[in-house]
Amino acid sequence: MRIVAAAIGVFCLSLLLTGVSLGSIGVSVKETALRYFTADEIVRGKSYMGGRYLLFAARSAVTLAFFLLFTFTPASRALRDLSAVWAGHRPWLAVTLYAACLLLLYRILLLPMDTYGGYLREHAYGLSTQGLVGWFTDWGKGLLLQVVLLLPTVNLLYLFIRRDPVRWFLPATGGLGCLILLLTFLAPVLIDPLFHTFTPLRDADLKARVMRLAARAGIAVEQVLEADASRRTVKANAYVTGFGRTRRIVLYDTLLERSSPEELEVVLAHEIGHRKYHHIWKGVGLSILGLFLGLGIAALVLRWGAARDPLAHPADPAGLALLALTLFVLSLLTLPLQNAVSRHFERQADLAALELSGNREAYVKVEVDLARSNLADILPPRWAVLLLYTHPPVLERIAVAEEP
Ligand SMILES: [Zn+2]
Repeated sequence: MRIVAAAIGVFCLSLLLTGVSLGSIGVSVKETALRYFTADEIVRGKSYMGGRYLLFAARSAVTLAFFLLFTFTPASRALRDLSAVWAGHRPWLAVTLYAACLLLLYRILLLPMDTYGGYLREHAYGLSTQGLVGWFTDWGKGLLLQVVLLLPTVNLLYLFIRRDPVRWFLPATGGLGCLILLLTFLAPVLIDPLFHTFTPLRDADLKARVMRLAARAGIAVEQVLEADASRRTVKANAYVTGFGRTRRIVLYDTLLERSSPEELEVVLAHEIGHRKYHHIWKGVGLSILGLFLGLGIAALVLRWGAARDPLAHPADPAGLALLALTLFVLSLLTLPLQNAVSRHFERQADLAALELSGNREAYVKVEVDLARSNLADILPPRWAVLLLYTHPPVLERIAVAEEP
């Protein structure tokens, strides 16, 4: 019960923090905000994003409570025993069954919250264009994808743990590092098409602009694709993904529909900026470093678990809940650092966008339009930025263009 109380505590604390921050915005910042946005837009963005911060807190609290309860009650051992009965003398099957059941239970537990946040709330704010059947199809596809990716991954981990219960994290980092590289390469052609249809950019003028920008940045751009995002959302977006032959820049059709050629040029210049600074490679490198540290700590925690009551041995499949708990807590603790790195990359790409396009006016217009169409929190609380923001808040991005 203490665990549930702690989880509820985390949730209430975040509620309180959101409340406190809403009332404490400086006057001069508010004036700057009102130069670009109406008071209505600010209130609406705050209400939409405020709910998202709370959903994040609630989801984290539920995740924490679920894995804690699973680890420190007989539930984990019961599932382990059941999996062992089904698997017979095949340790890989016992791990597979345990992992599949744990994932399924977790996803079903989160389903009401995810339906509320991902479907009902998006419709309430007029952001979603997707029907309920479509939304559940996406949910099912996502779950299936998780199963397909997770089961070989945990089997690989447990193969290493069985071989060397102390130093398994070293080969595991190597193995999973290769998997990260493979996924970064294949995701644009294998995973992304499960959710969107991609077509080559049709606008010849825009294509010519991209080539000019890329030449200016001194890099090659092979593919610029358009994604049919409007089937799901009115939100606008663009991103770079893949490497080598799968490298591409993707623009949402929602963005193409409502932006002028000059604004699209700024967006493309930002994406070219990511390429110029090798952000994909740096991201892969940091993920592998994080994996090394995370698995190293997980190895210590599993040994601790085996020395006490919960686990029979570090390679006991019942330790999967403890492993998941450890990695989840670590990812939560390092979230501010991960997002600080991401915001640094975004700032670099923004500077590149300004430099390559040379169009401050279009840059500001893009930032304002994106914030409007995605219902951004124009004046986000500082804690939310530090904890959750992968991009700098819109006023900070605009300020970059206004510096002399
Ligand atoms: Zn970016």
